[in-house]
Formats: sequence, structure tokens, C-alpha cells
Amino acid sequence: MGRRAADPHQRGGGLTQLLVRGGTVVTAAGSRRADLAADGGVITAIEPSLQGLAAGAERIIDATGMLLLPGVVDVHTHTRVATDTEPDRFFQDSVAAAHGGTTSFLSFNNPGTGSSAGAERSLRTGLAEWRSATDGDSAIDYGLSLSVSGHADDPLSELPATIDGGVATSKAFMVFDFRLDDRTLLDAMRVMGERGAMLQVHCEDPVLLDTATAAALARGDTGPRFHAAVRPPYVEAIATARALAFARSSGSPVHVVHLSSAAALDEVRRAKAAGVRVTAETCPHYLTLTEVRYDEPDPVLCAACIISPPLRSAADAAALWAGLADGSLDLVATDHVPDRLGVEKAEAAEGVPFDRISNGAPGIETLLALIYSEGVAGGRITIERMVELLATTPAARFGLPHKGALEVGRDADLVVFDPTARRTMRAVELHHTSDYTPYEGMTVSGDVRDVVVRGEDVIREAVFMGRRGFGQYLDRGQIA
Ligand code: MN
Ligand code: MN
Repeated sequence: MGRRAADPHQRGGGLTQLLVRGGTVVTAAGSRRADLAADGGVITAIEPSLQGLAAGAERIIDATGMLLLPGVVDVHTHTRVATDTEPDRFFQDSVAAAHGGTTSFLSFNNPGTGSSAGAERSLRTGLAEWRSATDGDSAIDYGLSLSVSGHADDPLSELPATIDGGVATSKAFMVFDFRLDDRTLLDAMRVMGERGAMLQVHCEDPVLLDTATAAALARGDTGPRFHAAVRPPYVEAIATARALAFARSSGSPVHVVHLSSAAALDEVRRAKAAGVRVTAETCPHYLTLTEVRYDEPDPVLCAACIISPPLRSAADAAALWAGLADGSLDLVATDHVPDRLGVEKAEAAEGVPFDRISNGAPGIETLLALIYSEGVAGGRITIERMVELLATTPAARFGLPHKGALEVGRDADLVVFDPTARRTMRAVELHHTSDYTPYEGMTVSGDVRDVVVRGEDVIREAVFMGRRGFGQYLDRGQIA
């Protein structure tokens, strides 16, 4: 295959001539049978027939009977950077993402992802450190949203430099020891909004949560299931309402991450009706799993679903699907944390109280499969809406204008998806650096067959064909 030398400063760098024939091209606006051509990693034509280009193409993909989707853009992951003892941690999760149909992802550098104490104290140090730690490591395109830590010496003064440095979105937490106090949160929204950037907010109320946690521990209710008991939906909803009042006051765009409950969704609806510049995401686990997981008697298996916010009721999940369908929710992202039952979650077996157990669950590889199967095949959303939720809106909202849609001039990031396939999810068949999946044993409709990033094969017939370092860092300019 004729490949151009990868140039990290230039888009493209993939195959010079790619032709995808006979698939159903899906965009947010509609679906149609069409051929697609790419040159130098960029989509150059989408037409009913591009037969004339077949003779000159270096690679032809027969997509007859397949859906041709834009690659998924996962804007919420907590991948781990490589270490001396685990040198493949970041690379391997990027490979897992590709297997699942994701062609771009954004990571955070919050505590636990491998960032140093210095990175927590200084946003610029965190950015430089993360860039260095991930350079040349990813199989697909990737970027960073900084964690704006309450432990930073002066987070507000450093935000402009990080925005100028291509980090258009960053995340603040209203809970955990590195949370921002309310005043700093409001100021961070303002500083980012003034510069065309956007703050992502983890919405849970620290007073309610810390009080309930202390009371539970004092009663001796230390098991993993109490993680959920101390975080009822109103703890999320009141924090969401407060964050959105701050967004309204500052006039800044704000993104609510991992929204899990009908009560919090109501707050987003109210804010949108009032003209607040808010978008909101939910995650596959809130759509497909429920709080019955916390009835699991094995402490480690129960801790497998220690995530924040916790899993909710079936009624909440139904409300979230309705929110995705009616536009109240804007996108789906994974909140991927590659924790392992045998490592991070294992402490649950030793009686470590719930508030000391690592938060998070893996999901980087299962996003498209779950949303297609439960959403599209399940009749809850259209295929066009799915493409909007997984690719087009996340790209638009997170400063990635070259990503997220099958459109001439955009990057040739493609998924050839077989809607007729069925498979049962098994952790042993996944590629992520976790050792479990919350979806073990779940049968899903549809499967990823091929994945192309900037015109180059990354997954072919479900086999990884890419290479470490092919993924380019995504410098992101202003988003609004
Ligand atoms: Mn969070
Ligand atoms: Mn998260």
C-alpha cells in the first residue's frame, strides 16, 4: 500500500486513495446508498456511484449490506498513561476503542490516570506532562481535557494559557477532595466562556454526599452497595441545578458530564428552556444497567459498578432514552475507567469501605455496540440520531470540526458496521486494559467490521491492522 509519511503537523497522512463501495452512508440528516472516496486521509466524494475511481484506488472496501458510519468520537475517558511497569496501558486502550468503532477520544488527566502531584498543582505542567507521556502512543486520534483541580495553586490564572495551547474543554468536579469550591467553579466557567472554551462539570452535591457518607460509615454501612445509597438522584439534581445557575449567570457554555437520573435531566430541560448554553451527556451504563447491580453479594463484583454517579432505576434509564430522543440530552460518552477487579477493585474483598474504592468502570470498547443494539435495534432512537449523539455533536461541541460526520472535506474516519451480526459480550474477547466488562453475557445486535482513521485501515474484519503512534494529537481551538 502506498502510504504517505505521517506528518503530525498536517492532517491526513493516510492512504492516498480509498474507495468504499455499496454501503448505506449515515449522517445526522439522513441515510442513503452511496460510494465514498477519500484521498490523503480526507473524504473527497460521496456519490451514488464512484465506479470511475475504482481502477485508480489503492484500497477498495466492499460495504455491500453494511452501514457506513462516521467514527465515534468519545469525549469522556480516563485512560491511563504508560508507566515503566505497564508500558502498553494507553496504547492498548486506544486499540480497544478502535475495535469498538471509536476513531477519536478525549482523555482526562485527573488523579489516578498517571499524572503527577505537580500536574495537579499546575494546569500547564499537567498539559505538558500528559502530552509527553502519550506522544507517539495512540492507534487513533486523541486529545486531552484537563482536570481543573482544587489542589491547583491558581487554576484560574492558568486556564487561558491552556486554552491557547489547544485545550478547548476542561473538567471540574463538585465533589471529591480535588473539587472546586462554588466560587471558583463559577469563575472557571466565566474565564473559559470569555475565551471560546467550555467547562465540563461533574455534578454531585458535596455537602449532601459527605454528610450521608459519614453517617453511613458511622453506622458500619461500609460495603460497596452503600456507595449508591449515599448518592440518591437528588444529590445529583441539586448540584446540576446549581451548576446550571452558574452557567446562566456567567453566560458561558457548560457541559454536564455523565448525567444519570431523570431528576437531573429535568434540571437540564429547565435550563435549556431558559436559554442557558448547556449540553449534557449520558453514558451507556446508565442506559443499559440498573441499581440492581448493587444487590450483588460478592463485594468485588458489587464494586465493579462503583461509579459516580451510581447506576439508577429502570425508570431513570427510560427517561434518559427519552431525553436522547427528544434532544434534552446531546451526546453519549463512556466515562471509561480501565479499573480491574484483580487490582483497583480488589480492595472491596478486604473490607475497604466504599468511599475508598476506586470509582469507574471500563466502556471504551462497547459504546457503539450498546447504543446501536439497545437504542437503534431496540427502537428507541433512529440510526441518524445515533450518529448525531456518538459522532456529530461530540465533534462539534468539543472543537473537532474535521471529525464526526461523513462529509466531503472531513477526515475519512469511518466504521463499516454489520447491522445483522449478533454477538455476546465477553471480557475475554475485549481488548481494553481492564479485566472485566459490566456487560458480561449481554447479547447485542450489530457489530463493527472495519474501522478507518484518516483513510487508513485500523480494524479490518475485526482484526487490528493499525500501528502505535498513528493516532494524532487533536489540537482544539475555540468551540463557541
Ligand atoms: Mn466524573
Ligand atoms: Mn469521568
